[in-house]
Parts: sequence; structure tokens; C-alpha cells
Amino acid sequence: MKAYDRLEITIGRDLLINGDPPVTDLQLDQAEARFLDNWEAPSMCEYCGAPIQEQFWGREVDENWEIWDGNKWAILINCENCRFWEWYRRDCIPSNLGHPDENHLQCASKLRAFEGDLPDVINWELAQYLRRRPNAWCRFTPAGLEQVVADILRANYREAEVIHVGRPGDGGVDVLLIDSGGPTWLVQVKRRSKPESVESVETLRNLLGAIVLHGTLHGLVVSTADRFSTRTRAAVTTARQFGYEIRLADRGVLERMLDPVLPELAWLDVMKHLDPEAAAGFAPDQVELPPSGRDTSYVGAQLSLWDSDNAVVPTERSVLGRST
Ligand SMILES: [Zn+2]
Repeated sequence: MKAYDRLEITIGRDLLINGDPPVTDLQLDQAEARFLDNWEAPSMCEYCGAPIQEQFWGREVDENWEIWDGNKWAILINCENCRFWEWYRRDCIPSNLGHPDENHLQCASKLRAFEGDLPDVINWELAQYLRRRPNAWCRFTPAGLEQVVADILRANYREAEVIHVGRPGDGGVDVLLIDSGGPTWLVQVKRRSKPESVESVETLRNLLGAIVLHGTLHGLVVSTADRFSTRTRAAVTTARQFGYEIRLADRGVLERMLDPVLPELAWLDVMKHLDPEAAAGFAPDQVELPPSGRDTSYVGAQLSLWDSDNAVVPTERSVLGRST
């Protein structure tokens, strides 16, 4: 299944959903409601509520944005938090009939759903899911969360060596972060089953004990709790007076640390495939076009790219229907 939905009207054809005509009236209604002039870019992300970034790109657009021969324009929306994206492109191809033929194309990313326990390996789809559902951190198994935290630390500290050591009897240490040319950090990972929980000072005391036994000075507590208790923060200050450097990472910090796991321009690959010219318009640093002027490669690409079995159903993965 593709990770996005595609709606289009090509010259002389009806509306197509992922390359095929709609099968049911519901599909047609959903597609028409979402498509073309009905589409207005939302100001907030429908999945995570973060502000939406909107960009416009156009070639030879007249000042009223009217459609005429040779015009081509596109709108791109992008959520910088969960990386949901959607774009719409209208292309007017000169014809001999006195009015231009129009190609319409609209694509929207679909966000993957995860059922039950979350996987113990982080990838960008899981990171996207966590950005959209902050409460889902409690759906890792405790051991799985340790591995995921190790992955997240690796992504954030590429110069450091990160080792998952969490086994029973490891004395409160789950992960080691060995800073290149610097200190070794002992990391304790706590998965709290309730999202609103507060991480108590006991966890920090355990870690401080482990730090003393390991003969190091640096520790990190990672917790899926909403925050650390006031006593914990006070204890960090006290420990600092004795030379111990302790960092605390609650769920909000963990969420921010997902940034390196997420694609910076999540929409780019699909757009580059379907309309390189528009992709170059939105991301000139990322896409190089041959200097031949007008690019028409997307016209051919529209006909051959699609999975015919990619039926649109109103599931979480489907943008049409918006069932989540
Ligand atoms: Zn979002």
C-alpha cells in the first residue's frame, strides 16, 4: 500500500483515485469534497493540531491567479510536527481549441497506524505516530522502550557510541552513551503506563547509586512521564554541588528528540516523482532540472506508476474519509 493518496483529473478523463475511477458513491463524494476548488489549506494539522506551513509555487501565473495557457501552479501544505503533507497542482497545457487543457493532481500523505504494543525499533513512521499520539509512549514494552531510547540517542548524538545494556541485574543502567572523547553517561529508562504520571525522585536515587558504583559522574534519566517531580529537580541541583552532572528527559523532551528520525522534506520524494518541475520550485536546493525549460515528464509518469490494488478505504491510513 502506498503511503499517500492521489486524486487527479487528467485531460479528457474523469476523477481518478489512486489511478482508478471511484468504485462507490461514497468514494466519489469523499474525493470530490477533497479535490480541486473545494480544497482549502487548513491552518492546523488535522492529525496533531500543530500549525500548518503553506507554500505556493507558480509559473506564469497572472495577477488574479486565473487559469490560462501555459500556467502551472501548486500549493503545498506541510506539518513540521508530524510531517503530514498535502499538495495540489494545476497545469494548463496550451491547446488549439481556444482554451487550455487542464491537468489536476492532488496528493496527500497517509499516516501509518500501529496497533497494540509498539515496535522496539524506531523509524520515521513510528516517530510520526508518536508525534501525533503523545500518549502512545506508554504502549512500548519496558524493554522495547529501552531499545527505542537507545535508537533515539544514536540519532541525536551521532558522534557517540550508544550501547543497550538493559538486563536484570544491571544495577539500574539501561543504556550507556559513550561520548566521543568525553564522558560516559549512564542512562536509566522508565516507561510509565499512565501518560499523566510524574517521575518521582526514587528513580534518580537509583541512578545516582549506579553512577557511584560505576565510578562516573554523568547520568541521564529518560521517562515517558509527563514531568519530573519537584524533589527530583531539587536533587539534580544538589547532586551538581557534589560534581554529578544529571540530565532529565521527560516525554516532551523525548518527543523533540524525534526530529533527526523524521524526514525533513517528507513530501519531496513523491513530488519529485510526479512533478519534478514543481518539486524544483518548492525545493530548488534539492532538485535539479535539465535546462530544457518546460518539464512534462509527469504526464507519462501518471499513467504507469500506480498499484491497481491500492483501493481507497476509510481507514486510519487513508486520508479520504479522515476516520481518525
Ligand atoms: Zn501534524
